[in-house]
Amino acid sequence: MSLHVVFLGTAGGVPTPKRSLPAILIQREGEQLMFDCGEGIQRQMLSARSCVNRRMKIFITHMHGDHVLGLPGLLQTMALLDRERKLDVYGPPRINDFLEAVMETVPFALTFPVEIHEIEKAGVVCDEEEYCVEAIRSRHVIPSFAYAYIEKPRPGKFHPEKAEALGVQEGPLWGKLQSGQNVRLPNRRVVRPEEVMDTPRKGRKIVYTGDTSPFKLLEKFASGADLLIHDSTLGEELTERAMEYCHSTPSQAARTAKKAKVKKLVLTHISQRYKDPSKLLKQAKRIFKNTIVAEDFMRLDIPLLEE
Ligand SMILES: [Zn+2]
Ligand SMILES: [Zn+2]
Repeated sequence: MSLHVVFLGTAGGVPTPKRSLPAILIQREGEQLMFDCGEGIQRQMLSARSCVNRRMKIFITHMHGDHVLGLPGLLQTMALLDRERKLDVYGPPRINDFLEAVMETVPFALTFPVEIHEIEKAGVVCDEEEYCVEAIRSRHVIPSFAYAYIEKPRPGKFHPEKAEALGVQEGPLWGKLQSGQNVRLPNRRVVRPEEVMDTPRKGRKIVYTGDTSPFKLLEKFASGADLLIHDSTLGEELTERAMEYCHSTPSQAARTAKKAKVKKLVLTHISQRYKDPSKLLKQAKRIFKNTIVAEDFMRLDIPLLEE
């Protein structure tokens, strides 16, 4: 199953001609998950050919304007395009107050249900059949969460010849084994799924930090991720300033990527002062080689590991 990450906004705080405000889209079969929702998001989605009427969930890291002000506009655009599907919005406390205040003062009719899930504490915030989204508190000037999209392990490869050799003929019993259940044969012999299937295959993991200073728990949270999308607002030369505003530098992001043994690091939330981000990339690459700087509309495919 294909999985893509599309960067819809990669600026930090202030947009630039090339960078829109923070928003990251994970596209999986039949569904898209958005992380943060900067202003102008509808236009970014249209440019990226992402449909606003698809099945969708939105996760907000924190209530700073650059991460959340796109939400009311997006809801209004969805309503104008007659969306009917429910939309789930996850975020820190007060996100409900925020949306209610906007709806009360800027009246427009919603054509679809919106379910707000206010996150009170770290843990799994959304649990679906094939994946879950987990949140932990990050280290920012206001309450903020980092999120991990984690796919559940997929069943290992099924070997029909092994099933036949054990006396299980093609039919419903194969399905039973493939879904993880034991099968009892007429001769009372019990065949277990692990006798005819390989070990389960690992799912994919994508971690998005939102705005944060480095913190120890993030290394564990991001451990083994296919992709770590990390705050990299300011360069090393402004480390003190980054710390003061609870942001990170490329080298801090790279150190976390290295300790967490992630496969790839993406730097984002780039300050408007860096017209050319190659300096940021260089700082990170000294510590963690497989690093790139996010650009608006950059699209990454996250392949499945076939072991
Ligand atoms: Zn921000
Ligand atoms: Zn912030």
